[in-house]
Amino acid sequence: MRALWLEDRRISYREDVAEPDPPAGEVVIDVTCAGVCATDLELVRGYYSYTGVLGHEFVGVVARGPAGLVGRRVVGEINAVCHDCPACRAGRSTHCENRTVLGIVGRDGAFAEKLALPAENLHPVPADVPDEVAVFTEPLAAALEILEQVDIHESDRVLVLGAGRLGQLVARVLHRARCELVVAGGHPEKLRLLEREQIRTIDPEELTPASFDVVIECTGHRDGFSTARRAVRPRGTLVMKSTYAGELALDASAIVVDEITLVGSRCGPFGPALRLLADGAIDPRPLIGARFPLHEGVAALRAAERPDVLKVLLEVAAPRSRGE
Ligand SMILES: [Zn+2]
Ligand SMILES: [Zn+2]
Repeated sequence: MRALWLEDRRISYREDVAEPDPPAGEVVIDVTCAGVCATDLELVRGYYSYTGVLGHEFVGVVARGPAGLVGRRVVGEINAVCHDCPACRAGRSTHCENRTVLGIVGRDGAFAEKLALPAENLHPVPADVPDEVAVFTEPLAAALEILEQVDIHESDRVLVLGAGRLGQLVARVLHRARCELVVAGGHPEKLRLLEREQIRTIDPEELTPASFDVVIECTGHRDGFSTARRAVRPRGTLVMKSTYAGELALDASAIVVDEITLVGSRCGPFGPALRLLADGAIDPRPLIGARFPLHEGVAALRAAERPDVLKVLLEVAAPRSRGE
């Protein structure tokens, strides 16, 4: 099949990748649309050693699996877990010790004609949610995870650092939480998208030190962490959403002295994300910066690197009208 293949930090378009042939319990999905995210770009830079098909944000139609699922349009959670290790048994299955992760750890991903996932990972997409909206379920779920991890109150001063792909979604989610939200970012057009949603924005240079109860780092750059660190007040919470290739320098004793809570934050709940997209509470379409067919995937990844481009979509197959 056709796919974008990552090997030795090089991405290539190939037409000879083996189709998935999963064990019982897993289904094969014909991918229709996939999204490029910062994690994909970081994988190409080598943040995690991975060889295989890249990509984890997708919409597709079940091609092979249980009768009730075949033909359904779905999105899928990206962690395939064992249900048997201590983490799984303790209810922390996204931290399964034996997990594979779609397009990230030990499992070929979504920048391909087909992918395989456990049936339990799939969520049917309501018929009236187009592919170009449903493809945002995974990153929107990741944004919602913050609300699962941190108690955010209406009186809280919350800073989202970074107005890129993830920052945009995080800001929309927090805006709905009615806290005192401000987003700091450099790119005027990205800030304008937020202002259109009545979300306040600020130049990062103008941030007052130690003035926020909660800071969410979404820049994807290492200096983002130190800016976030400066902005959070003593006993405040710093949520880290970015994954960076390489290590981070941090003044650990200052974190102790200021009693900062550091929260790492990754995958989140698909059900609530899909509902927000389905009822139009969050419309991610203004974030779509470019679309490419799968065979131009190398150019798609290059476009996603550009600071003025938000979400890049790969159109893998023509969308089908099979309803739910
Ligand atoms: Zn992603
Ligand atoms: Zn497990």
